[in-house]
Amino acid sequence: MGLLNTIIGHNKEKNILLNALKKDRLATTYLFCGESGTGKRTFALEFAKLLNCEYPTAESDSCDRCVSCKKISSNNHPDLFVVTPESNVIKIEAIREVQEFLSLAPYEGRKKIVIVDDAHLMNQSASNAFLKTLEEPAANSLIILISNLPELLLETIRSRCFRLNFSLLNEAETIQVLKRYLEIKEEGILRILARLCMGRPGILGGTEYEEILDEFESIADALEKKTVSDRVKDRIELEYWIDRIIIILRDILLTRMYPHMEEVLIVSNLYGFYSRISKKFDIDFIIKLYTQLIDLKRSLKFNINLSIARNYIESRLNEQY
Ligand SMILES: [Zn+2]
Repeated sequence: MGLLNTIIGHNKEKNILLNALKKDRLATTYLFCGESGTGKRTFALEFAKLLNCEYPTAESDSCDRCVSCKKISSNNHPDLFVVTPESNVIKIEAIREVQEFLSLAPYEGRKKIVIVDDAHLMNQSASNAFLKTLEEPAANSLIILISNLPELLLETIRSRCFRLNFSLLNEAETIQVLKRYLEIKEEGILRILARLCMGRPGILGGTEYEEILDEFESIADALEKKTVSDRVKDRIELEYWIDRIIIILRDILLTRMYPHMEEVLIVSNLYGFYSRISKKFDIDFIIKLYTQLIDLKRSLKFNINLSIARNYIESRLNEQY
């Protein structure tokens, strides 16, 4: 399908890279930033295909059919190296493997490509080693760092990258992506799902609609008990949990203001819960909690301790209702 067709939205980023490629002026390292679930990793893989495709299309896109494209699709191309964190960290050993990989000329493609997913999870020694790689770029190579928290990367690394900011998808684009990955045809459900993932269809992964609703019910239940769900085990899960609570608070607020307008709710299946709980909440409290959670989410980017964050939320909940 190629970069142009597989990737929905992100037209500015496509143009920048395709123009640079056409003019043979690609940077040696790119940093793909933006919230998770917006398609950065798929974009990076599609771009890798294009760089090594044997029969690019008339639109200068990859053919998605040649041996090289197929090997990249199955993560089996000798000139592509993808680094992913293990237990939430990228260690120096992984960066040494990158260096070894880049020390050899392309094996069968035109370029050697390294993709570092969640690059901000490189620890100190990995970051320092990686910086050396950036200072002496290998010929015919391209590195793509992917991060939803780029401010956690060393400034010296960031300054050596060409940065592309991936924005959230709009509702129509999100629905298009969901249609491709989920077997749901019903427009109404697709619209609810699109609103739930707030421009980041990737966060739904292969999760089924029923499972997502279950998850919302369990979060709503925890909210009623004034606790953070037990399922939250790390910072990433807490961020995810906060995203969902924010949706629930928005719905509770709307139920409180317009008690009979079920159709304006994002998770309308929780209407019964909303009606019950909205009577316990006053509007000022909901708005205050909403703002506090958005602020907290911002602080999470600076590695705030999980149990401090959890206590903070629980004490806010207990304070006011
Ligand atoms: Zn191809």
